[in-house]
Amino acid sequence: MFSPSLKKTGSSPVDSNKNTITIGMDIGGTNCDIGFVNQHGTCLQHLSLPTQNGTAFEGFRDAALRLIREQLRQLPTYQCVAMGIAAPGANSRNGRVSDPSNLGWPDVDLTEAFGRYLPFPIYVTNDANAAALGEKKYGAAKDMDNFVLLTLGTGLGAGIFVDGNLLLGRSGFGGELGHTRISDESRLCGCGQMGCLETYVSATGLRRTVMELIAKYGQSAGALAHLDFHQLSAERVGVAAADGDILALEAFEKTGAVLGKKMADWATVLDPEAFILFGGLTRAGEFLLDPVQRSFQKALSNFLRDPIPVVLSGVPHGEAAVLGACHISEFLHQIQEV
Ligand SMILES: [Zn+2]
Repeated sequence: MFSPSLKKTGSSPVDSNKNTITIGMDIGGTNCDIGFVNQHGTCLQHLSLPTQNGTAFEGFRDAALRLIREQLRQLPTYQCVAMGIAAPGANSRNGRVSDPSNLGWPDVDLTEAFGRYLPFPIYVTNDANAAALGEKKYGAAKDMDNFVLLTLGTGLGAGIFVDGNLLLGRSGFGGELGHTRISDESRLCGCGQMGCLETYVSATGLRRTVMELIAKYGQSAGALAHLDFHQLSAERVGVAAADGDILALEAFEKTGAVLGKKMADWATVLDPEAFILFGGLTRAGEFLLDPVQRSFQKALSNFLRDPIPVVLSGVPHGEAAVLGACHISEFLHQIQEV
């Protein structure tokens, strides 16, 4: 298999008298979570620092380095052997975050930026891949070699395992299922194309669907009609659905139907053991899951007779990316060595 080298940095020799730990860093639009995880998967310490305070990247990096060094000093019997960094849009092949627009940073080489100051290798991946790694190590995919994890948040991300390996692709952008298209003529996506799946199936996509339905139904649109786009959240639509609001239920029905149909397409390509759903939008529970299941089963090809379960993530939301980030080295190593 052709496998371009993955971007990482150098390491110090391991001290056999010490226990090893790995650091997992999850850089999000609001906060950065940093976990110090031992070889049994227990997070010994969990720290957090803000990312959305207008600081330049260097300010954030220096604050993160200070926290990491302080914490390592408090764990003198442990040696850190690697750090995994998960960030939206991060690329495992080159270690860069190429469009960190929600963070207000320029194109950043995360491997180099942290590797220059820390004596252990740094690995980088995007947040959806990190969540898939966490799921494989600790969650619903523990015993699976083939699965698709979908992160349904502000956008739609995916982490795909094929035959026990995380799919990265030629340049590290493999598995960007949110930008597979369902239509050529409809909603504009942040990637520059029209009609990408994530413009429908994401918290933002759900809000857009609700606004379209409000425009369609006018005065009879119900409780959500008096909200503007910024007041409308996926959570509010979920609460309205629980109250029996017809428009909210229709919005979830449309969202789930679109996703289920696309999942059936991917099933024919990947033949997975399961689809695992993760992220804020899954808090809607059955309002989303039921239409997804119906649409998925209906669109599935006859030859895929064995049921392919659609399940919710088995890793707590707050920990998935941090735990997954800790294991980037383990899984990317496999790929590198193939
Ligand atoms: Zn797109």
